[in-house]
Amino acid sequence: MESYKEKAKEISVFGQYDVIVVGGGCAGLSAAIAAARNGANTLIIERFGYFGGTATASLMLNINAFRNQKKPDYLQTSKGIAEEIILKMDEIDGLGDMTSYEQEEYELKPGNLSYSYPIDPEKFKYLTLKLVKESGADILFHTYFSDVIMEDDKLKGIIVENKSGRQAIKGDIIIDASGDADAAYKAGVPYREVKGDEEPRLGDQLMYRISGFDREGDLSAVNDWGSGPVAAGCMNIWGPSAPLLNGTNAQELTREEIETRLKIYDHFKKLKENNSALDNAHIIATGPLVGIRQTRFIEGQYKLTADDVLEGRQFDDVIALCSSPIINYYGYRRYLEHEGYDIPYRCLLPRKIDNLIVAGRCISSDQPSYESYRAMAPIMSIGEGAGTAAAVCIDDNTVPKNVDITKVQQKLKAQNAEIGQNRQ
Ligand SMILES: Cc1cc2nc3c(=O)[nH]c(=O)nc-3n(C[C@H](O)[C@H](O)[C@H](O)COP(=O)(O)OP(=O)(O)OC[C@H]3O[C@@H](n4cnc5c(N)ncnc54)[C@H](O)[C@@H]3O)c2cc1C
Repeated sequence: MESYKEKAKEISVFGQYDVIVVGGGCAGLSAAIAAARNGANTLIIERFGYFGGTATASLMLNINAFRNQKKPDYLQTSKGIAEEIILKMDEIDGLGDMTSYEQEEYELKPGNLSYSYPIDPEKFKYLTLKLVKESGADILFHTYFSDVIMEDDKLKGIIVENKSGRQAIKGDIIIDASGDADAAYKAGVPYREVKGDEEPRLGDQLMYRISGFDREGDLSAVNDWGSGPVAAGCMNIWGPSAPLLNGTNAQELTREEIETRLKIYDHFKKLKENNSALDNAHIIATGPLVGIRQTRFIEGQYKLTADDVLEGRQFDDVIALCSSPIINYYGYRRYLEHEGYDIPYRCLLPRKIDNLIVAGRCISSDQPSYESYRAMAPIMSIGEGAGTAAAVCIDDNTVPKNVDITKVQQKLKAQNAEIGQNRQ
């Protein structure tokens, strides 16, 4: 490929922070709230103008995996910020109806959440913005992470691009919650990435939102399709997919957007053919981003495995629990036969860099284990663990790999996060 040598230039420094969170998806927003609530001077940057990432920009249906979808389901494995968000969504009428989802229903109260909740994505944007703002974290939207500032193996900050141009932001701890491990990648952290269909992986999908359907009609065909829960009078539909592409390659990503978007009306037409309740329905929205399920995963100090998930393994450095099924385990949905396994803090720590924590879907894991913890409730719990650990590092003037993990765990419990203290 032809190359061009860009000229070095002076750029302005936007600010200096204890903690910089890159990306405001479910992991990043939870990390920022946790870090700021624990006293760290925190900045969160996000390429869109709202939080939620896949949840909002790619129009997800349900926040899954607050507890096991099947019995044994007595332990609510995601609490803390994830639970707070669901309870507050309920207060603002932001949850949808759950009739179409296979699960034991629990009465909605603290410590008693069901497996899954459909969300109104607009209320989710509103609430998460309010919570991040109230936490005291600074917010920089419409800002794209573009590089790291490094000295030896230590990060000094990041470089971003936005309407103001290219800027440097200095930070003591960086939390990479970009989903794609963009900061870790730029810092040279080793990673794994399944490209195309070279190995089994989860594919991507363009979701769309419809209104005008007959709510009293027979929506079973829509439910069979995997879609269905109604929130704010609308339904989000699992839309077209494209051949497996590489979501960290701009050209392939573009191709994926083009292919899925051009298929959308045919997709909806087919769905309507099987369902008279959709006769007067129409598509009212797609998100700005096709739903990308997986890209890079860092190689961390520990790699979570299928065995850990299936055995319900516990670790001394637990920062979150997960009870979510492996969604495509050798071709079937593999439910867990235990109350939930531990996610160790070491999965968030890249092998090479001292002051980088990775949170969200791109933590160090193998394919089947990812297909479990990827659900949004555990992803928020992982984010809360990352933000809390970062704040403890700042308090104790240390780096993530040397953090006093007992102190992090005590704080998590005090924040009502579940790290196994309520196991039977
Ligand atoms: C089609 C599909 C269906 C799914 N269905 C469900 C479901 O029903 N229930 C469920 O619980 N989970 C579901 N999931 C999984 C779940 O949505 C994701 O695993 C989870 O939301 C990932 O959260 P995250 O914060 O780790 O990453 P992301 O949501 O990817 O968030 C990353 C954030 O970083 C930002 N960002 C990325 N790069 C940059 C950059 N360079 N600069 C600035 N900002 C950047 C992004 O805009 C985004 O806000 C589904 C996922 C997909 C794609």
